[in-house]
Amino acid sequence: MINFHYARANDVADAVRQIAADPKAKFIAGGTNLVDLMKENVERSTRLIDITHLPLKSVEPTEDGGLRIGALVPNSDLAYHPLIAERYPLLGSALLAGASAQLRNMASTGGNLLQRTRCYYFYDTATPCNKREPGSGCSAINGVNRIHAILGASESCIAVHPSDMCVALAALDATVLVSGPAGARSIAMTDFHRLPGTTPQRDTNLQADEIVTAVELPAQGFAKNYTYLKVRDRLSYAFALVSVAAALDLDGGTIKEARLALGGVAHKPWRNTNAEAALRGKAAGRDAFAEAADIVLHDAKGHAHNAFKIDLARRVIVRALTQAANATPQSQSDKKIR
Ligand SMILES: Cc1cc2nc3c(=O)[nH]c(=O)nc-3n(C[C@H](O)[C@H](O)[C@H](O)COP(=O)(O)OP(=O)(O)OC[C@H]3O[C@@H](n4cnc5c(N)ncnc54)[C@H](O)[C@@H]3O)c2cc1C
Ligand code: SF4
Repeated sequence: MINFHYARANDVADAVRQIAADPKAKFIAGGTNLVDLMKENVERSTRLIDITHLPLKSVEPTEDGGLRIGALVPNSDLAYHPLIAERYPLLGSALLAGASAQLRNMASTGGNLLQRTRCYYFYDTATPCNKREPGSGCSAINGVNRIHAILGASESCIAVHPSDMCVALAALDATVLVSGPAGARSIAMTDFHRLPGTTPQRDTNLQADEIVTAVELPAQGFAKNYTYLKVRDRLSYAFALVSVAAALDLDGGTIKEARLALGGVAHKPWRNTNAEAALRGKAAGRDAFAEAADIVLHDAKGHAHNAFKIDLARRVIVRALTQAANATPQSQSDKKIR
């Protein structure tokens, strides 16, 4: 058993002061990931700073027509919030595809961003893992790697980021607001998570002494033509093998604007702006969707047990875009377009 101190933060400045004073401290929000990691001896924090009393629990419109989501808004409250349901249903769908109802009640927006990989070896302290113990090696590369990355991996780590919410946020062009000793700053969602490179121990570009205070969504929510399609081993309560957030702005049958982000395939939500650019101006149909899938998967690389994900991702991209174009967001892809 590892002893740790427990402290409560009174406000954001106090939280920043406390974390900056102790490099081994960790914030705790819902605790649904951190407590598991502590029980497994993967996280060995000596101080937990409870941030659940901070005033970061509201969802508010922004001046530029977007929405600001406090870092402590629970995943379930966010999924069912009337403004999300009306304007950003892609985000609501992604949230509801994650975990279970009980977990979503506890899980916070900030904690969801910072949740760690579900790579089996990361959780198994008897095996080498560069993410857990830098320099020890990667057990997954030549091990059981069925759930691992097909895009953006490195020789050091082939883990994937497990979040569903983050895939929708990447597609929606969200921004993460953070505060630290040097003040507040914002990070584009697509720059928030990192590729593993030679430093897989770092999941994100958040500094150790910073706190996530909110996530901001821009005005455009793609509420009409969207889909979050998640393929997993069980119908619920399982992480994505491949997931796709697809959003389209259509002018008749022509694509004016497209968004495409994947989950379960890389160390970060995998948004591909080249594929989005290729969709712009095209007729919304199988040819354009298949071309977009080819662009996304051009550099995909499988390992011994996960090569199936490449073809799976191709099919899920085409199906998600088809559902989005048909305005049939939930797995109703039977209706043919063109
Ligand atoms: C059985 C199970 C199944 C799951 N299935 C899914 C799934 O299918 N899809 C999915 O997306 N997720 C899934 N999850 C993960 C779940 O969504 C996350 O555990 C949850 O979102 C984490 O939020 P939390 O508030 O509990 O974070 P915590 O556990 O409290 O914290 C997680 C990390 O975030 C840090 N942190 C928390 N808040 C902040 C902040 N404001 N600023 C800076 N750092 C912060 C903590 O220090 C910690 O490192 C599952 C979890 C479990 C246990
Ligand atoms: S894939 Fe990453 S998290 Fe998994 S064992 Fe290798 S280094 Fe560790």
